[in-house]
Amino acid sequence: MKVIRSAAEMHEAVAAVKRAGRRIALVPTMGALHEGHAALLRKAREQNAAVIVSIYVNPTQFGPNEDLSRYPRTFDADLTLCIRESVDVIFAPTDAEMYPGGQTTAWVEEQALAKRLEGERRPGHFRGVCTIVAKLFNLTEPHVAVFGQKDFQQLKVIERMTRDLSYPIQIVPVPTVREPDGLALSSRNQYLSAEERAQAVVLYRALGIAQDLFNGGEHNAHRLQTAMQRTIQLAPAARLDYVEIVESETLLPVHEAKAGNVALLAVHIGKTRLIDNLIL
Ligand code: AMP
Repeated sequence: MKVIRSAAEMHEAVAAVKRAGRRIALVPTMGALHEGHAALLRKAREQNAAVIVSIYVNPTQFGPNEDLSRYPRTFDADLTLCIRESVDVIFAPTDAEMYPGGQTTAWVEEQALAKRLEGERRPGHFRGVCTIVAKLFNLTEPHVAVFGQKDFQQLKVIERMTRDLSYPIQIVPVPTVREPDGLALSSRNQYLSAEERAQAVVLYRALGIAQDLFNGGEHNAHRLQTAMQRTIQLAPAARLDYVEIVESETLLPVHEAKAGNVALLAVHIGKTRLIDNLIL
């Protein structure tokens, strides 16, 4: 396994992989790797390709009052997990390498899909995500790129960007990996106190209640959302940001829920903001 820090070395490594006639699968991450990321790495390996994982906490996708400075950085543990998962290359560039001079003059602008939900609450977030993912696509020239359904809107925005910018890259989704009690694995779960961790299960519980009601014949989106809101309110540490049921491709809200629609929510647990979703 190689650890690469610069764009120049990355281009060389890509050229070498291509000369050897191998395909490339990219898994973009911000590090603090957990079993959710490991599932993405295994999916990448199944593509019969050299697996490149990028580990980069991208400053341009964080808002001014967000957790950029305290985002967990656990490079040694990440290295161990990547060795275990037979990763070929870790691309862990510096800020200076990704944003020479500390800035960028060119951005991949947000599309309509990125303006609602997370995009509305975190202005500029998807502009940062799309810009860094486009740069990673240019640097690693993958045939396949693997993303988690945990960040459902991000997955859809990246699928759309890939088409819009004509990247010849297949986007492969991976279902959300959860703790035994249902909490979606997330690098941000590390911020939770023991008491908050216990209460964080309300996100999954609310999604489960929506699914149960839906299975029982309740298709009115407003009533499903109300049931989810009530569940979140039962946890004293929880403060709801949003809950919506949307059409899975347009991410527009629906009145009558159908199978394949997606329930999405964002909840503050104490000072930590968590997101989750479930495809009905
Ligand atoms: P992050 O490092 O949190 O930016 O996530 C990097 C990639 O891992 C994204 O494609 C996420 O959607 C994915 N991911 C994060 N958590 C999970 C999870 N619990 N299950 C599946 N994929 C995940």
